[in-house]
Amino acid sequence: MIFDLDANATYAPSERLQGVIMEYWSRLGNPSSIHQSGQRARAALEEAREAVNALVGATRRSHQTIFTSGATEANNTVVKAQLNRPGPLVSSEIEHPCVLGPLKTLKRLGREVTFLKPNSSGQIEPLAVAEQVAPDTALVSVMAANNETGVLNDIAQIASTVRARAPHAIIHTDAAQLCGKLPVSFEQLGVDCMTISGHKFGALSGVGALILRHSTQLEPLIEGGAQESKLRGGTENVLGIISLGYAAAEAHNALPVRADSMQHVRDRFESELLGRLTGIEVNGAGVPRLPNTSNIFISGVRSDDLVVALDLEGITISGGAACSSGKPEPSHVLTAMGHADERARSTVRVSFRADQTLESVAQIVSTFVRVIERIRSTNR
Ligand code: PLP
Repeated sequence: MIFDLDANATYAPSERLQGVIMEYWSRLGNPSSIHQSGQRARAALEEAREAVNALVGATRRSHQTIFTSGATEANNTVVKAQLNRPGPLVSSEIEHPCVLGPLKTLKRLGREVTFLKPNSSGQIEPLAVAEQVAPDTALVSVMAANNETGVLNDIAQIASTVRARAPHAIIHTDAAQLCGKLPVSFEQLGVDCMTISGHKFGALSGVGALILRHSTQLEPLIEGGAQESKLRGGTENVLGIISLGYAAAEAHNALPVRADSMQHVRDRFESELLGRLTGIEVNGAGVPRLPNTSNIFISGVRSDDLVVALDLEGITISGGAACSSGKPEPSHVLTAMGHADERARSTVRVSFRADQTLESVAQIVSTFVRVIERIRSTNR
């Protein structure tokens, strides 16, 4: 029995994608070359761009889609581009470290940066953003969906509030977790730029994109090549980008059926687990969340113990964010929501793939119950 319930860390590629990669494997040159194999690579890149645009509701006419090495690079590009743009920056405490890190660097360099607190459900409230935005604000960056809790932020409302108060602000959203799990429309969100990450929806790791409104001017983070309209130097990761385009098309075709099926599985998992055990609470329950994500507090059980014990049973989950697992510090997201360190240390993230069947939930829950009861009894 192997159950991958850690889709928010990496959504493993489909077998069909493996076939596509092998097909392209030996046929691609450098997309900047004018010979045929170079031009084949160029055509594959442009096809992938179209597929990504379709997934996020962007068009070549109105938007620029820049391939990057992932969401970390895309987020760094947006934040570090602010080094050349005066004005305060506004973001939140629950952002991924790849937004928090560069923002803290700018703060150290003397820039005014505000990190907004979420409410107790984990949402960044549009009103709280509005209160911090000034007419000279340079950047507002709020994530679309939190990677740990799955809680969704009302980006459309945040963007329209910011536009009214700070006409020159660049509005950015990190949509790495949203994209591929729920339908996304760049225009409906009303942002100026958006980050996505391929391995969160079935592409290879190490590829992502920054989607920009044409009117949004940003300096490149990586210089030294004319690739990606001079916004990202370096020979493109052709196979990675092909995988991104393929996974984007797969996700686009499968949504919203994929979202519905993930939500059925997640909801049944939560209701069965809560029905069979006491001392369980779902963080962020009651507010809009990603359909596949469950962030659960389990009293009397340390998250690391549960992750390891379930792994031995063939169930992969995470003790919070994948990249922070193994670190002794409690989750910055849960503590920002007002939870005590102890509660944060007893919380795990379960994130389902779209191909997880409803029939498998009973077996998964039984294993959780057995393992949790065992850990609790040894801790008594
Ligand atoms: N942003 C969010 C919300 C994420 O969940 C992650 C990865 O966990 C990232 C950014 C970083 O993505 P990448 O691995 O593509 O750099």
